[in-house]
Amino acid sequence: MKASNRISTLTGGGSDGWDLFYRARQMVADGQPIIELTIGEHDVRTDPSILSAMHASAMSGHTGYAIVPGTDALRRAVAKRIETRTGVPTGPNNIMITPGGQSALFAAHHATCDEGDKALYVDPYYATYPGTIRAVGAEPVSIIARPENAFQPQAADIAAFAADARSLLINTPNNPTGVVYAQSTLEGIAKVSEAHDLWLISDEVYDTQIWQGTHLSPRALPDMAKRTLVVGSMSKSHAMTGSRIGWVCGPEEIIAHLITLATHTTYGVAGFVQDAATFALNAGNDLEEQVAAPFRRRRLMTMDAINAQNIVRAVPAQGAMYVMLDIRATGLNSSDFANQLLEAEKIAVMPGESFGAAARGHVRVAMTVDDVTYIDAIQRILAFAKTFVT
Ligand code: PMP
Repeated sequence: MKASNRISTLTGGGSDGWDLFYRARQMVADGQPIIELTIGEHDVRTDPSILSAMHASAMSGHTGYAIVPGTDALRRAVAKRIETRTGVPTGPNNIMITPGGQSALFAAHHATCDEGDKALYVDPYYATYPGTIRAVGAEPVSIIARPENAFQPQAADIAAFAADARSLLINTPNNPTGVVYAQSTLEGIAKVSEAHDLWLISDEVYDTQIWQGTHLSPRALPDMAKRTLVVGSMSKSHAMTGSRIGWVCGPEEIIAHLITLATHTTYGVAGFVQDAATFALNAGNDLEEQVAAPFRRRRLMTMDAINAQNIVRAVPAQGAMYVMLDIRATGLNSSDFANQLLEAEKIAVMPGESFGAAARGHVRVAMTVDDVTYIDAIQRILAFAKTFVT
């Protein structure tokens, strides 16, 4: 039997760019001592206080179907968090709870794009973006953010593709670059979105991981709340990747449609997970800061090591749990660099091409192992790069 065209073409054909990741995983399975700096998953687990709240909720009986849009308490907690941080009036009816940010990205595109519509996204990009857009039947169109612009997308580049597009997906703080969009970048994005009547889908799942500057949500720019859908998640902020809990924040009418979509797809999120998330959000900023602290520390360690040599350069990362290293001075392309590094040093990093054409000549390092292992790995990466330069 033949599968649908849509599902068969979801990844756009060819490699999904994660070959190196799977190769490293196989080497681990074969018993090799690989340092994995590949995926965005913390080296700590969910805080025990959050797990206790989850346990208490389940034991008290919150194990049945939860209400589809999300519990009132969690929708209120998310709305309050967003309103406090952005100043934009936000209520529970602006929030739909989803099983993670990934599901929120799918729902946001489903709610805004029709079959065949062009949906813009910025390259370098989080690996699932084009597939998520294809999953709703829309056509992904990439906007290149160039290294010479510090990977900040330029309004003129977006405008060039915006005329017949329906939506624009952005991500700040950015995976994979660690770049936090400047206010001027976001104002440019807002201007283009308004001029071309685009929906703006703003992926802000790294909003608690800011090392320099401030995170601005484009929903807070004048007149933008009506055309912006914010994607949020507890995965990165609270080390709750496996709990699968996130949200979409947007205009009430769109949220109402998303509830209908959820009724026909996910049918909600586990109540005890929602109660744990409510507990975590109401616990204040301390938990978030605790989860973010190791990355803040490791980023500084990375910068010190980079500044002590002149072959590998780092993209000036202001946020998120990654650093992008510019390895063009080695003369290798990023895939060869990453594969040879894995072979020679048993260190796995992601080739830039896994995140789109714009990240060529770069590798992404996830700062997700303990400090001692991490800095040792960085020093070895730099020493390895040096061997290619005479
Ligand atoms: N957006 C970005 C930019 C991400 O990096 C990720 C996960 N790595 C997600 C969304 C999805 O995260 P989750 O589904 O765990 O919330």
